[in-house]
Amino acid sequence: MYYSSGNYEAFARPRVPEGADRKHVWFVGTGLASLSSAVFMIRDGGVPAANITFLEKLTLPGGALDGIKEPERGFVIRGGREMEDHFECLWDCFRSIPSLEIEGASVLDEFYWLNKDDPNYSLQRVTEKQGQPGPNAGLFTLNKKAQKDLTKLFFATREEMEGKRINEVLGKDFLESNFWLYWRTMFAFEEWHSALEMKLYLHRFIHHIGGLPDFSALKFTKYNQYESLVLPMTRWLLDQGVTMQFETEVTDVDFAFAGERKQATAIHYTHRGEPGTIELGRDDLVLMTIGSLVDNSDNGDHHTPAKLDRGPASAWDLWRKVARKDPSFGRPEVFCGNIDESKWESATVTTLDARIPAYIEKIAKRDPFSGRVVTGGIVTARDSAWLLSWTVNRQPHFKAQKPDEIVVWVYGLFVDRPGDYVKKTLAECTGEEITQEWLYHLGVPVEEIPELAATGAKCVPVMMPYVTSFFLPRHAGDRPDVVPAGAVNFAFIGQFAETSRDCIFTTEYSVRTGMEAAYQLLGIERGVPEVFNSTYDVRSLLAASARLRDGAPLDVPGPDAMRRRLVGKLDQSEVGPLLRAAGLI
Ligand SMILES: Cc1cc2nc3c(=O)[nH]c(=O)nc-3n(C[C@H](O)[C@H](O)[C@H](O)COP(=O)(O)OP(=O)(O)OC[C@H]3O[C@@H](n4cnc5c(N)ncnc54)[C@H](O)[C@@H]3O)c2cc1C
Repeated sequence: MYYSSGNYEAFARPRVPEGADRKHVWFVGTGLASLSSAVFMIRDGGVPAANITFLEKLTLPGGALDGIKEPERGFVIRGGREMEDHFECLWDCFRSIPSLEIEGASVLDEFYWLNKDDPNYSLQRVTEKQGQPGPNAGLFTLNKKAQKDLTKLFFATREEMEGKRINEVLGKDFLESNFWLYWRTMFAFEEWHSALEMKLYLHRFIHHIGGLPDFSALKFTKYNQYESLVLPMTRWLLDQGVTMQFETEVTDVDFAFAGERKQATAIHYTHRGEPGTIELGRDDLVLMTIGSLVDNSDNGDHHTPAKLDRGPASAWDLWRKVARKDPSFGRPEVFCGNIDESKWESATVTTLDARIPAYIEKIAKRDPFSGRVVTGGIVTARDSAWLLSWTVNRQPHFKAQKPDEIVVWVYGLFVDRPGDYVKKTLAECTGEEITQEWLYHLGVPVEEIPELAATGAKCVPVMMPYVTSFFLPRHAGDRPDVVPAGAVNFAFIGQFAETSRDCIFTTEYSVRTGMEAAYQLLGIERGVPEVFNSTYDVRSLLAASARLRDGAPLDVPGPDAMRRRLVGKLDQSEVGPLLRAAGLI
């Protein structure tokens, strides 16, 4: 496998690799990593779909990519996916999946047209003091010291940042800036998370720095991601002839080791409680999603808090068992061993009549019932004890929604601090109490809050013990390579498998690992698209530098005449126009 960029490889169609028709493929899980990998195996690898089986412990596909209507509780989205145009592997996959919305279009076409017609941007990113506009809107407010810290992180080696926390490398000035407020709430970083991951994010999204404050960098699907991404993909895969076996928990995988050679030899599972084993030969491939950010997530309801489940977690337990068999299979404990630092809680509020949407409109400055972009990404109540953020996507967010309902996603980064209105921690709150706290920060008059929360909405809280487990400080080798050295018939996929340069907590990362696994195990001749290379593009770097300075030009030292001469000299080369285009001189 190799990485490529540009149109030549993007449009090339690989030939079917030798022996592809003899392969039988087993996927552990039906998350995005598995589903996309199967698409690549069928489309680019020529594996007969009938030879592909998914083993999934739940009763439906999609993993973290949810969007569920529970009859009693209401609608549930554990998260909403901020997406961008440079999800190279993901769009390579979805260009081949037919849309369920538009006849003759692909999912990519549907997404592309929607975001052309209705581009995303926010009209109010931050509030304070119960729904008032936040200060310094659109500015990063990074002083010299904060800019220096950030630049140092950017240029540090990966090795230097291994095992370090963000608050060990970025000082108080940085942590008090608007940049950090925007960044941490948008990507769910906490101060105690990995400095290495923060660095990788900076490189990965450097072309989006200018689009961070108003989210013009982001794009969204039409509905929740279960309906917009998982359903069309699953439909396509089933139409091709794959098998999806639900209620099947993989409990262990056996391997044979001979010198450097590593071969998976059996899969052990339980199906509705009945144990079973699948023997694996050289032509049987097994792709395991190891770990899961949504394992053991628990839904409360309007009158019940969500529970924090610290018990056995099958995605992690499988990885733990497998990891014991070879040092190159990673160290799961680094990620799943500190729930207090990886958990947070989100909640889905469904408003039931026009009363709450009127307050939403005041903040969003858009009509929530228009069918178009509403908040354009999250709104953060910066003075909220929970550091509460909320968003209203294009409505309806679920096809089954009634016309007068609005689905709102709410989350807090600090789940163990008492709220400002309810005086309970987020983790202790029922859906109704979370709605009260949200209404308080929305600017609803205090005397109206209890009645509105009780009768104007239904809310489902969801506690996710491992949701940011991949952000915990790590070292090289903690995540296994997608295809470990010597592996002949197996791969690790998903958020905890190692692939160079890309960053986790993205749909793209899961698809990338799925694509790399398929291309390596089958020997597909086409290149895998490299991670978008903006971090090596001097224009992106200069534009980002200018934005990080809130548009202030470079301080060229010396008296005026000397400065003019220097700038004149720069203008006689390629450097001057580049600096000018970025607004730096
Ligand atoms: C709250 C939230 C917000 C997010 N925001 C964004 C965003 O803004 N942008 C973005 O791009 N991405 C975002 N993501 C991330 C993205 O949704 C995930 O990274 C991606 O969907 C993970 O897919 P996966 O296949 O790697 O793993 P998962 O979705 O975790 O799938 C794993 C699957 O395997 C099954 N499984 C696990 N172990 C076993 C076993 N032993 N036996 C059988 N089955 C098993 C699980 O049940 C599950 O179905 C967000 C995710 C969440 C939860």
